Amino acid sequence: MATKYFLSEDRMPTSWYNLNSDFPAPLPPPLHPGTLQPAGPDDLAPLFPMALIMQEMTPERYIEIPEEVQDIYKLWRPTPLFRAPHWEKALDTPAKIFFKYEGVSPAGSHKPNTSVPQAYYNKQEGITKLTTETGAGQWGSALSMACQMFGMELLVYMVKISYQQKPYRRSMIHTWGAEVIPSPSDTTNAGRAFLANDPDSTGSLGMAISEAVEVAATNEDTHYSLGSVLNHVMHHQTVIGQEAMEQCADAGVYPDIVIGCAGGGSNFAGISFPFIGAKIREGKETRIIAVEPAACPSLTKGIYAYDFGDVGMLTPLLKMHTLGHDFVPAGIHAGGLRYHGMAPMVSHALQLGLIEAEAYTQNACFKAAVQFARTEGIIPAPESSHALASVVNAAEQCKQSGEAKTILFNLSGHGHFDMAAYDNYLSGNLQDYAYPAEKVAEAQARMPQVG
Ligand SMILES: *Cc1c(COP(=O)(O)O)cnc(C)c1O
Repeated sequence: MATKYFLSEDRMPTSWYNLNSDFPAPLPPPLHPGTLQPAGPDDLAPLFPMALIMQEMTPERYIEIPEEVQDIYKLWRPTPLFRAPHWEKALDTPAKIFFKYEGVSPAGSHKPNTSVPQAYYNKQEGITKLTTETGAGQWGSALSMACQMFGMELLVYMVKISYQQKPYRRSMIHTWGAEVIPSPSDTTNAGRAFLANDPDSTGSLGMAISEAVEVAATNEDTHYSLGSVLNHVMHHQTVIGQEAMEQCADAGVYPDIVIGCAGGGSNFAGISFPFIGAKIREGKETRIIAVEPAACPSLTKGIYAYDFGDVGMLTPLLKMHTLGHDFVPAGIHAGGLRYHGMAPMVSHALQLGLIEAEAYTQNACFKAAVQFARTEGIIPAPESSHALASVVNAAEQCKQSGEAKTILFNLSGHGHFDMAAYDNYLSGNLQDYAYPAEKVAEAQARMPQVG
């Protein structure tokens, strides 16, 4: 039985897919935080290049991938699709389990799929410097690699607790030539306000976003770059699902279930949006599942409402499943899944009933990840392990019903820089958190009131 499905470079997708072209109802637009009117291109221009703003708003189904970007993609794309026969056996399931592996990129995750085009379009428009935020450091490292490739400067605000506890991704960012400042910092008005409020603050993604946005908004030559949540990021990641579709065809299967973990929603969008498009256009009956931590359950317990993307309330309002912009998550190990909101496109898909959402606690996720590492070899990122917990659940359902369903999941990255988390799990010291529903109701009172 073949277990590896490689695509040759000449079959790599040459366009990104835009699910907005196929949604049966239009996506609610972002709103200007002051006027509460739909934000236009000019409102976003201080932060993003016009090419990306247009991608944000376009109804076109396909967006051509610039040749320079395709050339860089080819350093690690197309990524392999694997079948997981040893894990299937360990799970004693009749299900066929396939996974797309994004850990083969230089940064070790799917994030360079969007960092490279974002750096490219900014460079094209004469921008010389980018700012961004990073939690555990995956996005900061992916963007620093891309900026280095295009000869651009990058300033990364890294959540303080991760800056202190996760030195190796910080070292990667330095190796790729970018500057890193622990957030909250005294280098911005927003940061100084957070510190005045709590001098010992260990930071959050929402705070680091406020700092990075402020620097971009107040400097002509500087733009801001976001690694998830926004529409253009979702489009860029669809190279994952488009390749997977070809590879599944090569393997002679079509998935009954597609699964991805969801923090801001980008790798989930990447693997699933092309399959959702096929569901809408061709009536395919694929179950599509977004998986999040029980400690940060925006899709399963959050409110679908307009909210800010950051703590400092500087960003446009996005209609999304949110736990409140001032949400401070428990210190779970899946740093990349600790964002209070969700991509508007993923939220919209859930609202329309095109996808389902599940939440798992971290011990269940690490249990699945360790079993996977011991059978298939690859050590998954703690974020990706959430997808694995859902696969275990779906495989168990197949065992109960005796159905040999085909399950496809995205293995968004490897866990080589997260071994301290594995140590904690293996020594029985990992705590499970479930976010209390009352807290969500409290946060709702502090959300912007949009009519
Ligand atoms: C950042 C990250 C995530 C979460 O971000 P999404 O935008 O939801 O994909 C998931 N997995 C890995 C490996 C990451 O680095």
